[in-house]
Parts: sequence; C-alpha cells; structure tokens
Amino acid sequence: MATNNFSDYLYFKGLLGDFSGVCSRCNIGEVTKKYDGKSRNGENTYFWRCNYHKCRKKISLKRDSFFEKSQLSCQDVFILICGFVYKFPQYTIHQTYKKFASHTLVDWYNFCRDVCSDILLIDNKKIGGPGHVVEIDESKFGKRKYDRGDKVDGVWVFGGIDRQTRETFFQVVKHRSAETLIPILVEFVHPETTIISDCWKAYKNIKNQFFQHLTVNHSIHFVNPEDRSVHTNSIESQWHVLKRTVIPAFGTRKHMYDSYFSNYCVRKRYLEGSECQLKAFLKLINRVYPLKTCQTPSTTAATHTSPGPSISPGPSRPSKVRKKIVSAPPEDSDFSDYEY
Ligand SMILES: [Zn+2]
Repeated sequence: MATNNFSDYLYFKGLLGDFSGVCSRCNIGEVTKKYDGKSRNGENTYFWRCNYHKCRKKISLKRDSFFEKSQLSCQDVFILICGFVYKFPQYTIHQTYKKFASHTLVDWYNFCRDVCSDILLIDNKKIGGPGHVVEIDESKFGKRKYDRGDKVDGVWVFGGIDRQTRETFFQVVKHRSAETLIPILVEFVHPETTIISDCWKAYKNIKNQFFQHLTVNHSIHFVNPEDRSVHTNSIESQWHVLKRTVIPAFGTRKHMYDSYFSNYCVRKRYLEGSECQLKAFLKLINRVYPLKTCQTPSTTAATHTSPGPSISPGPSRPSKVRKKIVSAPPEDSDFSDYEY
C-alpha cells in the first residue's frame, strides 16, 4: 500500500470523511484536499482547505472519524487496529514498533473494544425466541488473592446462551438478587423463550416473564433425571472458555470486564467466519462512526485542528456510544490463541 494513497484507502473504506465541495463557512470557496508535507516519521500528510483567500478554512483529515483526537497518524492507528483484530499481544507490537508507548497500545486496544461494545448496543438484539432454549447462570470472575492477608474478590457475571444459535449475553452484576438479574434477563432474552437454570432463589419467578422455566438442582445432579435435556452445560462451558482465554489473567479492572465480553461476542458474531476479519472490523468502525460525505457546518474547534501526525502518545478518544452490555455468537471455538 503506497504511503501517499493511504488516506485515500481509509476514505474508500469509509473511515475518513470527504469534505470536498463548496465551503460551508464562506459559501464562496471550494474545499479541496491539500498536501501538508511529511510527518516526522516520513508519512505524507494532508488536510482539507477552502481556497477562498478571505476564508481559508482548514479541516483535519480525521474530522469526525475514529482517528480524530489521536495524535498518532492514521497509519499508526491502522497498525494498532490490525494488531487488535489479529490478536497480536501488545508487547509484540511494542517490541516490533518501538514508537508505540505501552499506554498508547492499551488505549487503542481499549478503543477497539469500545467499538465492539458500541456495535452490540446499536444492534441491540435479544437472544432466544419461540422454540429456543436459553441457558442462564452466574459465575464469579477474577482471582482471589490471600497475600498480605487481604482477600480480593472478583466480579459476578450473569450470562446466557441460546442453545440453537449459540448467541450469548453477559453482564457484570453487583448483586445476584432477583431485582438485579430479572430485568437484565428481560432486556436481553426474548419473552417466548424456554429458560433453563439452576435452582438459585433469584430465578424463582422467571416463569412469569418467559414461555417456560425449567430447572436442574445442582446440589443433587447436573442433569435433570426426569428430562435429560434439562441441564446448563452450554453456559458452563462458556464460563470455562471466557475464564481460560478471554479475560486476561492479571490486571483486569472490574469496569473492563464488560468490554472484554463485548469483544468476545463481536468476534464470534461479526469477525470469525468472515472473508477478512480486518475488513469486517473496519465495517464495524464505519457503523459506529458514520462519516459525512460532504461538508456540514462545524460546531467545534476540531475544524481547525492541525492535521500533522506525530509520534507522541495520548489518544483520548471518547466512545461515541456508552454501553453496558453484550450479546451474540454463533458457536464455540478454540480461543487458545486469544491473548493480549
Ligand atoms: Zn471558505
């Protein structure tokens, strides 16, 4: 990929906007893309500029895009997106490209996980439905540590999986009470669904909200002896996969769990099985950051940001949509190569 065409590549992928046309500020001049010289790391850089000499409005190439507010060049961000999609550990990228500070890598992998969270929020799909069975359960994540006499508890996660579609939802919860769990269940599972769970007391009144509620008493057996299809093996195996391969063993803050679950679900639902996982993820970015194809009046100072990239760290891009949940995947797979 030729360096001087890279911004065009991002434009064609829908990741950078096209602000060409009559200037929205002066309504006289024409806005065109201008060469801005080479950056410190030798990349050709561009910006949008109004050609009317009394206006000279300047627009960053990154305006309104996923790349906006980052001091990294689009190319550098693209490298980090590739790293995220193809699961390169951050230390590998840090070793390969010395220019990326470790906190920059952390930030951008987080931003990519934000895209996953946002897309699930946008699609807002309930799992289950008529004829479907959804297994539900809660599980505790995070290691207990007893050093220095302190016990550090993990987080409780409530989740479910549709046996037929393998789609899931996961939600970090503070409590396992009915008041907490039932509204989540109603939000993420279709009411015409058969629910299967253990005999946790919070599930007592589920039958009032769903087609059917079947239970297996785990204190006695793991499969209901009266109906051997009544078990929670699918959700149990999901917990195993998530704990073994999806949630990093160390350093995961509690508030990060939801974004890891979103990442897991989005990979299963949108990336795995796609012809090109990178292209599939770029499409998701494009959906979360829909771009304008012509100029629109700006209300922010971002209009006049300098387009020149630099190596300095510190992206602080806020996510477009703040989210809290998850849903998703087709089927189990081996996540043994999944690491960060
Ligand atoms: Zn103008």
